[in-house]
Amino acid sequence: MIDFKKLSFVTQKDDRDNPQAARQQQMAAQDTSVIQKFDEIVAAALAKRASEIHVEAMTEQTRVRFRIGKQLEEADSLEPKLHLNLVNRIKVLAAMDITKRGVAQKGYFKVKLEERDVELVAIIMPTPVGEKALIKIQYRQSLGLNVSQLGMYPNILQEFKKLLDRPNGLLLIAGSPGSGRTTTCYACLQELNDPSKSVASMESQIRYDLPGIIQSKPEDRHDYSFLDGLRASVDMEPDVLYIGEMNDDAIARLALSAAFGKRIVVGRINASNGANAMLSLLDMGLPGFLVASGVLGVLSQRLVRRLCENCRQAYRPDETVLAEIGVKRPDLTFFRAGGCDQCGQTGFIGHLGLFELFVPNDRVREKIISRASAAEVYAAAAETGLVPLRHDGVRKVSQGLTTLEEVLARL
Ligand SMILES: [Zn+2]
Repeated sequence: MIDFKKLSFVTQKDDRDNPQAARQQQMAAQDTSVIQKFDEIVAAALAKRASEIHVEAMTEQTRVRFRIGKQLEEADSLEPKLHLNLVNRIKVLAAMDITKRGVAQKGYFKVKLEERDVELVAIIMPTPVGEKALIKIQYRQSLGLNVSQLGMYPNILQEFKKLLDRPNGLLLIAGSPGSGRTTTCYACLQELNDPSKSVASMESQIRYDLPGIIQSKPEDRHDYSFLDGLRASVDMEPDVLYIGEMNDDAIARLALSAAFGKRIVVGRINASNGANAMLSLLDMGLPGFLVASGVLGVLSQRLVRRLCENCRQAYRPDETVLAEIGVKRPDLTFFRAGGCDQCGQTGFIGHLGLFELFVPNDRVREKIISRASAAEVYAAAAETGLVPLRHDGVRKVSQGLTTLEEVLARL
């Protein structure tokens, strides 16, 4: 059992220019019984290695449930009068606007547990009987804020670092939400950050405070939009620029034009692979020759669950399975999830990234300019040594880091 008194929360402070919110946060913070209750809930969830905490308003009670493995389990039942303060406590920790009720909000905070940071993502949503809070717990001890710790194989890592060393250009980090892209982007910024450089970021949400980096995010209450912030960041001509969302044409245009200056631009994009990421820039209306010459590379990634080494079970994969995934080594040993006390009977502890580095060659550039299909662009990159995501996945499966099912489910 984890002693809740040993938990310490790390939160984003965001009340410097909002005295009303600051006052209310202090008031909420003084309700020590709610603080203690919330600490107990988090400690219990961590002890059971829950992946989610649900705090739900109901007419007779506030129901607290944990997701353990695939199932939701009832963990606690609180008096309805505690609900508001409990949700406020979550809002305070996740640096949300506590003055706002009845709107959806999302925020992040961390909890320190035995010298280790566990990241928590909180999502608040209004319902007719009160706000529902969902907290996702991310036990990502494997993903450090250092490019070398992300879990890339040495050859990919070396190539990726070479791209980061280039004097200018656009580097895209692609994947779907929840694939660990932000962690990778922050690791890139850490790699590029040194006191002789100016590093700026524009993000829709600031996940971590990065010392030495000028981070900005939109502020509704000041009519400060993402695009306003990005324009200001570009005007300041930083040496390194990070763009947290490359999801519309105005943003993509600014990103690319900034990347032709003397700076590396790192952009987070929603795309399944490098070919799709580059083509989505064309779909946003950017000229092919600019995309072809401005994009240095695209790192695509997925997040899979990491097997618990204490209880994983070795097996010999069936030959037909190996044939299906294109592996010709019948001597391979794979592992499947077991279940033990260390992993809360789930068979998994934390996560692990799968990576594919797409570096445009001359053929890729030709294909982009002639607006070829994603398959053709991808095939052109594969000709010069692109290691497919699937390959990286199978490699990690054969090392017992994750299961084949985890990899296949996310390709
Ligand atoms: Zn285990």
